[in-house]
Amino acid sequence: MTAVLLRDAPARIHYAPRLRRPEAAEGRPRVVIVGAGFGGLSAARALARAPVDVTLIDKRNYHLFQPLLYQVATAGLSPADIASPIRGILAGQANARVLMGKVTGIDREGRQVLIGERRVPYDYLVIATGARHAYFGKDEWEPFAPGLKKIEDATDIRRRILLAFEQAETEPDPVERQRLLSFVIVGGGPTGVELAGAIAELSKVALARDFRSIDPRSARVILVQSGERLLPVFPPRLSEAARKSLERLGVEVRLGHPVSECGESAVRVGPDVIDTRTVIWAAGVAASPAAKWLQAEKDRADRVKVDANLNLPGDPRIFVIGDTALAVDSRGNPLPGLAPVAKQQGAYVAARIAARVTQDLDIGPFVYHHLGNLATVGRKAAVADFGFLRLQGSIAWLLWGVVHVLFLIGFRNRVAVLLDWIWAYLTFQRGSRLITGVKG
Ligand SMILES: Cc1cc2nc3c(=O)[nH]c(=O)nc-3n(C[C@H](O)[C@H](O)[C@H](O)COP(=O)(O)OP(=O)(O)OC[C@H]3O[C@@H](n4cnc5c(N)ncnc54)[C@H](O)[C@@H]3O)c2cc1C
Repeated sequence: MTAVLLRDAPARIHYAPRLRRPEAAEGRPRVVIVGAGFGGLSAARALARAPVDVTLIDKRNYHLFQPLLYQVATAGLSPADIASPIRGILAGQANARVLMGKVTGIDREGRQVLIGERRVPYDYLVIATGARHAYFGKDEWEPFAPGLKKIEDATDIRRRILLAFEQAETEPDPVERQRLLSFVIVGGGPTGVELAGAIAELSKVALARDFRSIDPRSARVILVQSGERLLPVFPPRLSEAARKSLERLGVEVRLGHPVSECGESAVRVGPDVIDTRTVIWAAGVAASPAAKWLQAEKDRADRVKVDANLNLPGDPRIFVIGDTALAVDSRGNPLPGLAPVAKQQGAYVAARIAARVTQDLDIGPFVYHHLGNLATVGRKAAVADFGFLRLQGSIAWLLWGVVHVLFLIGFRNRVAVLLDWIWAYLTFQRGSRLITGVKG
């Protein structure tokens, strides 16, 4: 525990003399990494001791811990608890510099990354630009059903949820009031399940005594999954356990029918129309526009097809990793869009580049080591699948908590999240019940 803490506590660095970046030694390879998410950051940090100059580019100035975004969206955590400034994370790494900018293209011939008019030359390029939510061609649904991918999405969803309760409190029309107090989550994967559980607990516990005209416990939370079961990557027994835990929280789980219509005041699911003012999209993802930048082969989700070394086929100087890459395992199955995949791929491409520039060695193909899957439903309710061991209930929930705190970047964030969780556990309250961003 201590070793982890020291390495991740950038605050201590401020007392040390400011690190002077050695002049880019003539001929020292330039490694440019686009995206400071799980994959890009892992690659940059793993190159700390390599004789290369690292440039990490991101359109944001912070690294975001997406697995806890849903807790920002449901008023449990503040955005700063799950995000860390990239410059702070790499302040102690002498061979690294950080550029904030939105990449708009790649000049493969000239070996340059384009940030608008600006050009950043590279000898090796790692693209780790992640993914965005996708509506399977129904992009017109986005205004009515926001997805959850960045902090702005989370605070927008939080506003919609909390505002619905406020509006219901003064709404005279019972039909409109029930519409306001109905929340539909589309997509029964981990994010959908976690959102549904958190909204149910918010309405049934945290808000229960705070209103006078409405009873928040009467809110409907509906989770729609087009497939036959929730959490399809988990074993059926754990899918069933998650469904039962959600239903104990009062969530209505709808299986087997996709959303076919989505509008301002209702959604259609199979034969039913559900009146609602708040729909949250947790169903589809599509990769960043990296394939277009690279003019590369891609799959239906726009992921860039890479070879076994995570290189763009035919170009050993370009690597594509994480959610924006289509990498397959030894059986040809696509690797899942998960943080551990991106992190392991980041470390791998760093090792590959270091081996190339130091000993001109080939370190063999990438192999993903899957440690397991975790998903939480709510208080003392989660499921965990480690293959040889499958857990549910409180023990899985504790494990889920420990793993998420450990993987958070930054000592401050770990302590902040832990304190927020302990407080929420003891008081049944939420630490960030703020309605922000209301116009006027
Ligand atoms: C709500 C939610 C919950 C999740 N929960 C889990 C979970 O519990 N467990 C798990 O393993 N995985 C989870 N995931 C998936 C996990 O977050 C991703 O698999 C992981 O983030 C992929 O890492 P990445 O490095 O490929 O991309 P990301 O972490 O998304 O990072 C991409 C980075 O690229 C930057 N970027 C994008 N485009 C540009 C551009 N044009 N110019 C400059 N910078 C750019 C972005 O700002 C971002 O910082 C979750 C995802 C979401 C959205």
